[in-house]
Amino acid sequence: MGGRIIGVRRAFPTGRPAGGRAPRPRDAQPEQLGFEGMPERLFVCTPSKLGAYADCPRRYRYSYVDRPAPPKGPPWAHNSLGASVHTALKNWYALPPDRRRPEVLPTLLKGTWVREGYRDDEQERDVYRRALGWLEAYVDGLDPADEPVGVERVVAAKTGVLAFNGRADRIDARAGAHGPELAIVDYKTGRAALDTDDARGSQALALYAYAAERVFRRPCRRVELHHLPSGTVAAHEHTAESLARQVTRAEETARDIMAAERSVADGDDPDDAFPTTPGPRCAWCDYRRTCPAGAAAPGKDPWAAVERPPEQG
Ligand code: SF4
Repeated sequence: MGGRIIGVRRAFPTGRPAGGRAPRPRDAQPEQLGFEGMPERLFVCTPSKLGAYADCPRRYRYSYVDRPAPPKGPPWAHNSLGASVHTALKNWYALPPDRRRPEVLPTLLKGTWVREGYRDDEQERDVYRRALGWLEAYVDGLDPADEPVGVERVVAAKTGVLAFNGRADRIDARAGAHGPELAIVDYKTGRAALDTDDARGSQALALYAYAAERVFRRPCRRVELHHLPSGTVAAHEHTAESLARQVTRAEETARDIMAAERSVADGDDPDDAFPTTPGPRCAWCDYRRTCPAGAAAPGKDPWAAVERPPEQG
């Protein structure tokens, strides 16, 4: 099931320009058929691309390989909420410091509000008020004069296997024990509070830190999850070794993806190369209706993650 597979790379590409073979200069050497000794092409990726495969290879295939991509389900209210809050905070930092005051928050949030996925207007208004309250509490703890090194800043780095790029919510300049340092800040708006294990285990945060350190040529070992609904910060201090371990894991995932793509290019069944991994996340998967494993799982309403828990008592 699913759409046509494109974009799979062959181990030994046979591609030629669309208009046919380009004329070979008279003195040119015969075309080399082997690629021995040539560097492997790097796997270009973002944290979400790697995360999609690690979560479920089939979801990765639907998102990044099949073309046309299978239709997604309806938009999720929690994604709308997350995007609205992230953009409001981005725009907060775009203001000059003397205008970073709580009074501007309603304007910022209204200006960035994404309306999709809510059950009805009443729920949407309720969530808007909640989000505004989170933002007010959050900026109360910020120094308006602080200028982050980056806000929604793309950082990129290459290893021997992958070319990584990703957009960090915020990169802060901090005073470290041995001089200026950077810290990666990631905003979270989900219901569940997060702890240090989440910060330590986040491959995305580690890759941002690894890349930021190289882009800005400054140590970047601290990663923080700022959970706006609870007003808590879950932080972890990486070491060079722990960052290297996360990079190695990312490279292993990249190799697995490239191997799966190669096997499809070599004629293997795409369903075997990108297996399903059914589990609780299927209920929230955009491709639940396309995926044979997901179709069997009960789905969630698009607004399920922003519903208030039932009143106790
Ligand atoms: S429904 Fe489940 S098994 Fe299917 S692609 Fe989504 S996460 Fe994977």
